[in-house]
Amino acid sequence: MTGSFGAGPLPESADVVVIGGGVVGCAIARQLSRFELSVVLIESAPDVATGTSKANSGILHAGFDAEPGTWKARLNVRGAQLYAELAEGLGIPRKATGSLVVARDAVQMETVADLRHRGIDNGVPGLEIWNRDQVVAHEPNISPDVAGALWAPTGAIVCPFLATVGFAENAVRNGARIVTECAVIGFEVADRQIVAVRTTRGRVAARFVVNAAGLHSADVARLAGDDSFTIRPRRGEYILFDRSVGQLVNTVLFPTPDKLSKGILVSPTVHGNVFIGPDAVDIDDPEDRETTAGGLAGIIAGARRIVPALPLGTAITEFAGLRAAAGKDFVIGPSPAARGLVHAAGIQSPGLTSAPAIGEAIVEMLQDVGLRLRPKASFVPVNRQKPRFHDLDRQVQARLIAGDRLYGRVICRCETITEAEIVAAIQSPCGARTVDGVKRRVRAGAGRCQGGFCGPRVTAILARELGIPVTAVRKDSANSWLFLSRADLEAGEGVHA
Ligand SMILES: Cc1cc2nc3c(=O)[nH]c(=O)nc-3n(C[C@H](O)[C@H](O)[C@H](O)COP(=O)(O)OP(=O)(O)OC[C@H]3O[C@@H](n4cnc5c(N)ncnc54)[C@H](O)[C@@H]3O)c2cc1C
Repeated sequence: MTGSFGAGPLPESADVVVIGGGVVGCAIARQLSRFELSVVLIESAPDVATGTSKANSGILHAGFDAEPGTWKARLNVRGAQLYAELAEGLGIPRKATGSLVVARDAVQMETVADLRHRGIDNGVPGLEIWNRDQVVAHEPNISPDVAGALWAPTGAIVCPFLATVGFAENAVRNGARIVTECAVIGFEVADRQIVAVRTTRGRVAARFVVNAAGLHSADVARLAGDDSFTIRPRRGEYILFDRSVGQLVNTVLFPTPDKLSKGILVSPTVHGNVFIGPDAVDIDDPEDRETTAGGLAGIIAGARRIVPALPLGTAITEFAGLRAAAGKDFVIGPSPAARGLVHAAGIQSPGLTSAPAIGEAIVEMLQDVGLRLRPKASFVPVNRQKPRFHDLDRQVQARLIAGDRLYGRVICRCETITEAEIVAAIQSPCGARTVDGVKRRVRAGAGRCQGGFCGPRVTAILARELGIPVTAVRKDSANSWLFLSRADLEAGEGVHA
């Protein structure tokens, strides 16, 4: 099967259908693409990485949080190892920063010591208890009342968008089809065996289906008569600071955790920014990604307990992400109601870290329930590398410009993103189709002005490269058109009183 990406036609049949184009579904599709199988990933949005996978902390957790023996514990540690092996080849920005869980008093030091033991049980290497002086030497801006910390050298940070796109692109390179703007709305089941998936764009015959639908994974399970779990959205809000204050912290700084979450952290990002957040608030609406005054005030107060001198004046944006909370552990395994349906559901933190390991576990499970796996000799484990102009030295930049004049045209001034990079992001095997899709892939619009300057120019490049009118270019979601034609305007189309 030839790989493809976009809102093209749905094939009539597939060996495996994966539902959901978040980091979990895309990592599963990539793992499946190692084998001689026809794989179709179905995503309701116009792009991958538009759900929880686009709004999280971007941390590759070392793996000391989860209770030993849980899926979370097993898959976190394996996932972190897999990123270390795969990230560079797949074009996923990753930095081995290490992480610190900061304690403020003797009681918290006990919790931190417990976390170290738990980490050792989970197989996390290199965990150390640091005293106050060690912590302050590593993090000069940390609160003076720190008592000590747990140092995890295998903690790291990653770009969550490019992790998702990296897995997706590699799956497509290896023959998977990713069909976007297509929602799963039902299953055909015969004698308790899944035989087809029904979507808003027709049906695909398939006997093996993976449910990686994130916040909607319980709804998808119910479509097959499976009500074995429920999902409660748990919102986390963030504030992102400009790259000018990127030196504020060197590593991921966690507070000592509580029962609900890992707490408010202060962390660098792979792109040189700093963020604070997230909080953890249970909500009802799986689409409610609003930030709130109360939530932001709470995360500022929490972050100040770790780094008192927060540069609030350099905040460039706020956002919220929704955890798909299904209980204490991930919901991973065959559906008790329908043969052939396997869940990768309720994947809250550390789901980003665990994603490639979830891919391995799900493929093994599919084999256990009857999927035949024959390794694909032509499997290509890496993606084509795309130069990041901003990160290159002047001589290399000059050589690129000499070879392609579009490298000489800076479209996003804040992040120094060139037209050549934007064109490559659109033309790649899992190419951007929306303005935010470009932002997620190359960061045009991710800087201080948040797209105020480059947004219209990115829109024009998308229209040109996709061969569509500017009025057909969308910001992100299905109906998020940015411009109206004069004719539409005169007809009152899209204009709301
Ligand atoms: C605040 C917060 C902080 C976090 N921090 C971290 C962290 O630092 N490290 C870490 O490891 N993890 C972290 N996580 C967890 C991590 O982000 C998630 O585990 C991961 O992104 C889940 O990916 P997913 O693919 O399961 O879900 P999603 O990314 O939500 O993808 C599911 C996809 O399914 C699609 N879909 C839904 N229903 C249908 C349907 N019927 N038909 C077709 N498509 C459908 C959706 O459109 C969506 O794109 C955090 C999460 C949050 C919310």
